[in-house]
Amino acid sequence: MAEDQGNHRYDLIVIGAGGAGSTVAGEANNRGARVALIERWKVGGTCLNVGCDPTKTLVRSAQILHQSRHAARFGITVPDATPDWPAVIARVERVIDTIRGGDGDRNIRESGVSLYKGTGRFVSPHEVDVNGETLWGEKIVIATGAAEVIPPIEGLREAGFITNVEAIALPELPRSMTIIGGGVIGCEFAQIFARFGVDVTILGSADRLLPREDEAVVLPLQDVLRREGVSIQTGYRVDKVVRRDGLLCLSGPSDGERVEHCATETILVAAGRKPTLDSLNLEAAGVVSNERGIVVDDQMLTNVPHIAAVGDATGLFPFTHVADYQARIAEANLMGSGPTQRADYHAVPWTIFTDPELARVGLTEAQARDEGYDVKCATVRVRDLARAITAGETDGVVKLVSDRSTGKLLGGHILSANAGEMLPEIVLAMRAGLPVSAIADAIHSYPTLSEGVFWAAFELAKPEMAAIQAARGHQAAYSEVPDDL
Ligand SMILES: Cc1cc2nc3c(=O)[nH]c(=O)nc-3n(C[C@H](O)[C@H](O)[C@H](O)COP(=O)(O)OP(=O)(O)OC[C@H]3O[C@@H](n4cnc5c(N)ncnc54)[C@H](O)[C@@H]3O)c2cc1C
Repeated sequence: MAEDQGNHRYDLIVIGAGGAGSTVAGEANNRGARVALIERWKVGGTCLNVGCDPTKTLVRSAQILHQSRHAARFGITVPDATPDWPAVIARVERVIDTIRGGDGDRNIRESGVSLYKGTGRFVSPHEVDVNGETLWGEKIVIATGAAEVIPPIEGLREAGFITNVEAIALPELPRSMTIIGGGVIGCEFAQIFARFGVDVTILGSADRLLPREDEAVVLPLQDVLRREGVSIQTGYRVDKVVRRDGLLCLSGPSDGERVEHCATETILVAAGRKPTLDSLNLEAAGVVSNERGIVVDDQMLTNVPHIAAVGDATGLFPFTHVADYQARIAEANLMGSGPTQRADYHAVPWTIFTDPELARVGLTEAQARDEGYDVKCATVRVRDLARAITAGETDGVVKLVSDRSTGKLLGGHILSANAGEMLPEIVLAMRAGLPVSAIADAIHSYPTLSEGVFWAAFELAKPEMAAIQAARGHQAAYSEVPDDL
């Protein structure tokens, strides 16, 4: 199990080998440090094994099935577009293997990092126990990630439920599924399973899906999901589940009344995630945590200066790209000799992989107003972009939120095919502190979806852009675009 020939002293111990922990361990190992990495489950953690990668693989299969069924409008005959679910799941496994690059444990060991398979538990500020062995670390990084929250619903455990962990590897498709939770994970799975022919209902407690996202992009996404057969019930707090005639009945208050939602075969719980701190015995190290996660400063250091925490364990931004960003900062600060590095969360992007995708950076319009900005917004309909019309993917909207007084962007919100690929120029403009006119002044290829970002920026920067506006012409407004184009 241990690869350290009995010497348990390390320059760095990393607890958790998900994206964050693996990055820290790899970077420190590249520097020549003696590194121990502790993992109690699978190397690669959530994102690789049960999160980002398998779900995006399922999104793709579901999209191909959907497009095949609607191929006739593109002049293509696809006679029998039926899903082969076991083959879909087999591809998920192949994709995970490919991204992992073979045997993850062996790769880590061959890189020179000592991998310990077991649960890491602090016994003192410099010591971590794993399977009865005590490792000593000059520096320690906590990268234990997060796990799904299972709400205290009467009867839920007895009735049985699945989470994302089982959903990506179901042996067969259920006929019906009720998803508790209208957040990112709930929305992605709802569309995946609906496209595979499952009768899907989302029960969300907020007054709309994705309550943290800008309404301008969420409402059309709800329309898309409904159009594809997903039943959406919002403002619904499930508090009881019973099994009746072989099916599950969920009930709870909604709009002041008790509402029952019956006849579902499977319940998928997607009610949020919380940091995994349970078995760490943080008290022995004196590391402070709160209800959100491990408390860190902008150097990713905890209150104990030789211990850092990164990724979902901090409860900050629960995304792989943020975990990776934090991991590099923590590693450099703990193990490097260069200048102090500080995390800067200005303009953190993320993408929700529904189809169309919902991509976002910065403040929503409502948040910007709450924060007292003199807000100026511009919105472009995706159906007014020639590329969207050619692709027959006209659902969506591009919305930019700016500060009228500085001309700078405060946020960007895109619902579109490939929205995640359209976002980076907004992220770049925001990180670099560029005025919105910088985007409006950049020439964008025709016909591309990124013209949506251009036209929204152009609208915001109109006063500055007046001189060249005449030369460029005006954005088209294709009002008569049929839905089945
Ligand atoms: C369904 C789903 C879809 C997602 N899709 C996306 C997406 O598309 N894009 C995106 O950016 N993010 C996505 N995420 C979020 C992303 O997976 C996480 O933000 C990311 O995995 C965090 O990385 P991490 O290293 O902090 O934690 P994790 O990947 O969770 O790794 C933590 C590791 O620590 C181990 N561990 C925990 N406690 C101990 C202990 N005491 N001892 C030893 N080992 C321990 C765990 O077993 C785990 O392997 C998704 C998440 C889910 C659930």
